[in-house]
Amino acid sequence: MTTAIQSWERREAESFFHTFSDLPSLRQDGPVVIERGEGAYIVDTGGRRYFEGNSGLWNMTLGFSEQRLTDAAARQYAELPGYHTFFGRNSKPSIALAERMLALAPVPMSRAFFTNSGSEANESVVKLLWMMWAHDGQPQRRKLLTRKNAYHGATVMAASLTAKDYNKAFGLPLPEIVVLDCPHAYRYAAPGESDDEFCARLAANLEVTIEAEGPETIAGMFAEPVMGAGGVIVPPQNYFGHIQPILKRHGIPLVADEVICGFGRTGNLWGTQTMGMQPDIMVASKSMSAGYFPMGAVMLSKDIDRRALAAAEAFEEFPHGFTTGGHPVGCAISLEAIRIITEEGVLDDIRNVGSVLQSGLDQLAQHPMVGEARGVGLMGALEMVSDKTSKAPFAGHLRIGERIAKAARDRGFIIRPLGSSVVLAPPFISTAREIEALVATLGEILDQVYASARKEAA
Ligand code: PMP
Repeated sequence: MTTAIQSWERREAESFFHTFSDLPSLRQDGPVVIERGEGAYIVDTGGRRYFEGNSGLWNMTLGFSEQRLTDAAARQYAELPGYHTFFGRNSKPSIALAERMLALAPVPMSRAFFTNSGSEANESVVKLLWMMWAHDGQPQRRKLLTRKNAYHGATVMAASLTAKDYNKAFGLPLPEIVVLDCPHAYRYAAPGESDDEFCARLAANLEVTIEAEGPETIAGMFAEPVMGAGGVIVPPQNYFGHIQPILKRHGIPLVADEVICGFGRTGNLWGTQTMGMQPDIMVASKSMSAGYFPMGAVMLSKDIDRRALAAAEAFEEFPHGFTTGGHPVGCAISLEAIRIITEEGVLDDIRNVGSVLQSGLDQLAQHPMVGEARGVGLMGALEMVSDKTSKAPFAGHLRIGERIAKAARDRGFIIRPLGSSVVLAPPFISTAREIEALVATLGEILDQVYASARKEAA
């Protein structure tokens, strides 16, 4: 048989080294190879059509056929198909995008620069903080605070900030990392503890940790407004209100990782607004270019900008950057994506359709297998438990999340398994009807999977 007539699935099995994929499931079920997309739907090489309930990786927020984005790309490719931002060079779209982002920032921000990904943006922030503190006469300020279950990326420092066990595979985290509590009340609040008491306890733990580590050794704290890849963990409303004053008192900058939340996901333009954060540095990516180009961004407050610039001036440059960071085509696409999101009622759509999603999730919370349904805006998760009272998870070998996601896929819905949870993050262009269909199908799947899991566990 020649390669030409072998299936794409077979060809990929023999050639492609998969990232972030469960290999036993991949071996058993094969990959899904996507050929094209239309609106909120994707079509695989077998012609099967799926509603993309995760917007790809949270990023294809305007769907798969937004011609204004491809037109913006085509125009820019025709004018200037690529350039860089080193050695004092720049291009018009990159400057216009920096201005636009600063104008839209939820707290005053002074300057922006661009990367190709969220990981690179977070990685860049760490280097910038280290350089800034060294110039400020505090070179020992190198430690970074992060939270259990955080996701900040896959490059070496971003993976270190990602406080998930799998990074042990690489001998990470790096020694500078200090892991704080995860603000997930369902899992970590003590019995009878109110949200406010829970946050006060986490804040007290933060204070103790800072004192134990030495405030003079801490460079910054990274936090997603809502934790995305950790399982859509929405902290209690006043969580940041409890921890921010402590950081401020110790001069520790707060970095808002808005890679998932930024540009609409939570129902406001920024997750920072939804969660009451006052960051000193902001990182964005994903929805910024609606996934049509690899883009990441860093925005600096006036104070950080002043101090970082002084450090760079003393060194005669910020010796950092990426060949394609601030790519003119990526910036042109991002300008158009941001224009659509901010000027065409997309935030209202997210709130309206988001409320259909959230009430659907609330309904599913009644299911005997669902321990917690949680979310905000157009992001949500269902966490499955074998016992609602004890909150005991299902045995790992039952692969509950994988089973639910597989059953959903068989019925034309892409959702993401995450341990014993499943995660939903539909495109911003989803309709209420599509979300209702997703929720109704999920309800039926939960019944099926619950019945078979109980049989197997018995
Ligand atoms: N931060 C957050 C909050 C993310 O969710 C992600 C990616 N899912 C990243 C950073 C890393 O982004 P990238 O994969 O573009 O490097």
